[in-house]
Amino acid sequence: LAFCRALPKIELHAHLNGSIRDSTIRELSAGLEGGSVSLPELQQLAQQASRTLGECFKLFDVIHRITTDHAVITRITREVIEDMAADNVVYAELRTTPKARPEHGMTKENYMDAVFKGIAEYYAASRRTQDIQLRLLLSIDRRQSAEEAMDTARLAVLLKEEGVCGLDLSGNPSVGQWETWRPALDHARRHGLRVTVHAGEVWNPGETAAILAWRPDRLGHMCCLDAALERQLLESNVPLELCLSSNVITRSVPSYRDHHFSSFFPDHPVVLCTDDSGVFATSLSREYAIAAAAFNLSEEQLRKLALAAAGYTFLEPGEQAALRERMEEALFVES
Ligand code: IMP
Repeated sequence: LAFCRALPKIELHAHLNGSIRDSTIRELSAGLEGGSVSLPELQQLAQQASRTLGECFKLFDVIHRITTDHAVITRITREVIEDMAADNVVYAELRTTPKARPEHGMTKENYMDAVFKGIAEYYAASRRTQDIQLRLLLSIDRRQSAEEAMDTARLAVLLKEEGVCGLDLSGNPSVGQWETWRPALDHARRHGLRVTVHAGEVWNPGETAAILAWRPDRLGHMCCLDAALERQLLESNVPLELCLSSNVITRSVPSYRDHHFSSFFPDHPVVLCTDDSGVFATSLSREYAIAAAAFNLSEEQLRKLALAAAGYTFLEPGEQAALRERMEEALFVES
């Protein structure tokens, strides 16, 4: 783990509200009047060994009940960046679902303002000479309608100058239809944003084939594939965001050794990610250490894996080259 912690790393699949610190959840829920989070729900939050994907989405609803005010969103954003920087993440694309909650005075726009405030607070307080570089992806939740998805896509386009570089489709994979959100993803793409899509998290071959045919810029998970889909994915060469702890804890794959990482690495572009470091009690270093143990990866392979991720970021080519150079320098110093 020490080697993996020292390794400069790139995080490309981390959900803001899933990366909330355990201690912050406890503190926030303790302060809630009328206990909007019950004790059994809190106990479920603490129990991270195994939970189904369905239970995970119930858990996200619990987290969202304690993250309804702007100051909390700002705080979580700052803390998540602090945790990533402390883990030697040098570049991250943090994703979040902008939320409109009129009952809490929250619009998608002012939700994002709260996120930007958290980022600004992090940099204002940071004393690092070479700091973590950050971009944002806006997520569309699969529960959302075509209009809600389009609002998020439009907002993402408006916020390009503020560091939003793409759109993500996520949420409970058993809910909704791919065709609903496709126009929003097309809109983002037409306006120069990149798109990553959660796919194949559950067995849904028709949808997974349709998503592959649309050719997102990256794909998340892709756990449930048959031979034909695997071939289609390999031919597409679309980079895969793989989240080992998340997939094993939610039982999307039976064990680390059985994880499809080994079917793709090193021939197909893959990047290790945390998904929800709070919910799954992990860090990016830990994910690298798990991969190293499960697949017998050498230090050289781990370095290559970390460095290759620079090429899968949604940065412009010049920025990508600068990031690769920074990674190479850090890898050289560290080895
Ligand atoms: P938020 O977008 O910052 O609120 O982060 C939490 C949200 O991310 C959840 O409510 C889900 O919509 C999404 N999410 C987190 N983990 C997963 C996953 O493993 N699959 C699909 N969606 C996810």
